[in-house]
Amino acid sequence: MVKMFCLLVIFFSFAHSTYLEEQKWPKGETFLTFLEKNSLPSSIYYTLDKEEQELAAEIVAGVKYHKLKGEDNQLEQVLIPIGEELQMHLYKNGDKFVMEIIPVIFQEENLSLSVDIQNSPYVDILKATNNYTLANEFVQSFRDGVNFRNLQKGDKLVLFYKQRVRLGKQYGSLKIDVSMIETAHKKNYIFFFKESYYDQSGKELERLLLGTPLTYTRISSEFTSKRWHPILQKYRAHLGIDYAAGIGTQVKSAGDGKITFVGIKGGYGNTIMVNHTSGYTTLYAHLNNFARNTISGKNVKKGELIGYVGNTGLSSGPHLHFGLYRNETAINPSSVIKIEKNGLSGKDMKDFQAYTQSLKQKVEIALKSTIEPKKEENFNLTHTLEKPYM
Ligand SMILES: [Zn+2]
Repeated sequence: MVKMFCLLVIFFSFAHSTYLEEQKWPKGETFLTFLEKNSLPSSIYYTLDKEEQELAAEIVAGVKYHKLKGEDNQLEQVLIPIGEELQMHLYKNGDKFVMEIIPVIFQEENLSLSVDIQNSPYVDILKATNNYTLANEFVQSFRDGVNFRNLQKGDKLVLFYKQRVRLGKQYGSLKIDVSMIETAHKKNYIFFFKESYYDQSGKELERLLLGTPLTYTRISSEFTSKRWHPILQKYRAHLGIDYAAGIGTQVKSAGDGKITFVGIKGGYGNTIMVNHTSGYTTLYAHLNNFARNTISGKNVKKGELIGYVGNTGLSSGPHLHFGLYRNETAINPSSVIKIEKNGLSGKDMKDFQAYTQSLKQKVEIALKSTIEPKKEENFNLTHTLEKPYM
């Protein structure tokens, strides 16, 4: 496989004396190796508390981070995103480098798109907006909604979506409030409602249903993407659920999938990662040991034994740290682990109908008018090669 290691480096001239460099976090890089490479003291890592060291293990390969350099090419500051809400900020305090965790500043934009189908929804959305996140999200949301093969040239597609913008560019995950495809004079809708996609009758679309990966005694820490700790006076995040359980308790794959990582992952200790459908990945950390035959590349079934609860890495007691990612963004596992519902009813159904009624009206207006799509910058071939979705 060709690895696109030619870093996409963009230089912004800020002032005469300093400049900002954007780079991609290389595969296999850990926070420690990063410090080493940049001649920064490893004490930055070792003086972090447990929760911060866990977060350091959350840096995703391929994520864009920024370096601020001085006149003499000296590193002055580094900003590394962790999840979507927080970032590590490395900076000089006197003559010493220190790290703090700070929020990422972004805005939210409400956007819409209306196109006539020429090729496929994916290609047409991409052509109109240069927005891969949007094109992928659309395909994932409409997965079971309409058979794309039956679409005709000239069929209509309308989207209303919310996206985050940071430093003038599309940032992080994105939500499609409503997608509509009109084919054979029939309008097919998908709505995003209460953290899930629904069709117009209020039926939740089939999606990944995960099981709890172990029998546990209690949840010792819930998921949080950003919180301010008033005593420590620090921002914190916990990008998973901690399940307290005895050492050696069996850990099972939460869903069908393929093992993509088995090994030590920084503060997470012995870790397994499993890829599932629809862009979901699960992570199992602090394991005591791996089950026999748990190797990278192996297909696993939901409920299949993969490892055993332990206390490895930075862990204050035996527990399983269970993480869930969608398109590499950490999300709350409890939003996916739930008992299958029998569709919406009662007040939920009423809310759904009121909510979707107003969105349908917006779609009708969009169909009758011309919307200038918002084009994202930095459209390039490199990116196309890295995103094998079509
Ligand atoms: Zn944890």
